[in-house]
Amino acid sequence: MPQISFASNNRQFHIELNERVKQYFKEKNMSQRGNAKLFFKAIFMYAVVLSCYTVLVFIQPESALLNIALLTVFGTFLAFIGFNVMHDSCHGAFSNNSNVNDVFGYSMNFLGAECRFWKVKHNVLHHTYTNVDGVDDDIFKPPFLRMSPNQAYLPLHKYQSWYMLFLYGISTMFWVFWMDSVKYFTDKVHTTDLPKKKLADHVSFWATKLFYIGFYIVTPLVFLGFSKFIFGFFFFNFVMGIVMSVVFQLAHVVEGVDYANAQETGVLAIDEDWAIFQMKTTFDFCPDNKFLTWSLGGLNFQVEHHLFPKVSHVHYPAIRKIVIELANKYGIQHNEFPSFWIALKSHFRMMHSLGKPNAIAA
Ligand SMILES: [Zn+2]
Repeated sequence: MPQISFASNNRQFHIELNERVKQYFKEKNMSQRGNAKLFFKAIFMYAVVLSCYTVLVFIQPESALLNIALLTVFGTFLAFIGFNVMHDSCHGAFSNNSNVNDVFGYSMNFLGAECRFWKVKHNVLHHTYTNVDGVDDDIFKPPFLRMSPNQAYLPLHKYQSWYMLFLYGISTMFWVFWMDSVKYFTDKVHTTDLPKKKLADHVSFWATKLFYIGFYIVTPLVFLGFSKFIFGFFFFNFVMGIVMSVVFQLAHVVEGVDYANAQETGVLAIDEDWAIFQMKTTFDFCPDNKFLTWSLGGLNFQVEHHLFPKVSHVHYPAIRKIVIELANKYGIQHNEFPSFWIALKSHFRMMHSLGKPNAIAA
C-alpha cells in the first residue's frame, strides 16, 4: 500500500468541529451510538425481508405482478439492511456494546459477503483515503468503469454512462462470488494486505458462502423450480445492486469532487488536513427528505458520516447543522445536492465525462 500523509497545519476546523460535536452530545446527555429507534428499525427491516422471502418461496402467490413487487421490496430492503444495520455496526456505531456491534455486523454476512474484508475495505481504506487512486477500492473498477480521471482510459469507457447501471445491477452477485474470493485467496484488498487469517476467519468465510448458497439458491430452487428461481434470483439482486451502488456513488463520484493519486508514486503527501480533504471528496444529498434519511442509514449525509464514522447515522441531521456552521466560519465548502435526482444526474454526467480520454487528472 502506498504511504500517504495529510498536512498537519490548518487543523483548526477539524479541532473545533470535534469539540462542538462532543459538546453537543454532552449537552443532550446522549450516546453517540444508535438508539432504541435504530434497534427497532433493524428489527423491522429484517422482518420485511424474511416476510417477503417466506411469501415468495413457500406461499408462492399466483400473480406475476405481486411476485415482482415482493422481489423489488426484498432486494430494496436487503440494501436497507446494508445501509442501516450493517454499515453502522461495522463502524462500531450501532450500539455502545461492542458485542452487539459485532453481532449486527454479521448483517454483511447475511447479505452474502464477509464483514472482516469489508471493515478493512471500507472503514480503513475508503474512509481514510477517500477518492485516493491506488488505495480506495471503491473507485477501482477496471476495466469496465473509469471512476477517476487518474485511471487509465480505454475506448469502452466512452459508453460507461450507458452500461454502468447494468454493472451496478450485477455487482452484489459479483461481490459475493468473485470479489470476496479474490480477497480470501490473495489476502489483499486492492493494494493493501489483510491481517493473517485465523481459524475463525476461515470458518466465517466458508460458513457465509454456505449460508448464501443454502438460503438464496438451494432452498428457493427446490421450492420454486429452476425458471422461477433464476428469474427471482437475478431480479432481486439487480434491484439490490442498483440501490446499493447508486447510493454509495452519489457521495464520491459526482461533479465537483476532488481526487488524489497514489497509483505510481508509492508515496503521497496530501497538502490538506484530513477533515478538509473529506469535505472536498464527499457530497450530501437530499438532507430534508424524511424517507431517504430513514431508509438510507445516513448515506445521504455522507459528509457528516465521513467526518464522524463512529457516530450513528441517527444523529447526522443535527451534526450537519454544526458542520455547515463551522464550514461557513472557516470558508470551506459544504458539498450538498438538494435532491436525489440532481445528485443522480450529476453522477451520470460525471461518469460520462470520465468516459472521455481528456478528463482532467488530479
Ligand atoms: Zn462508512
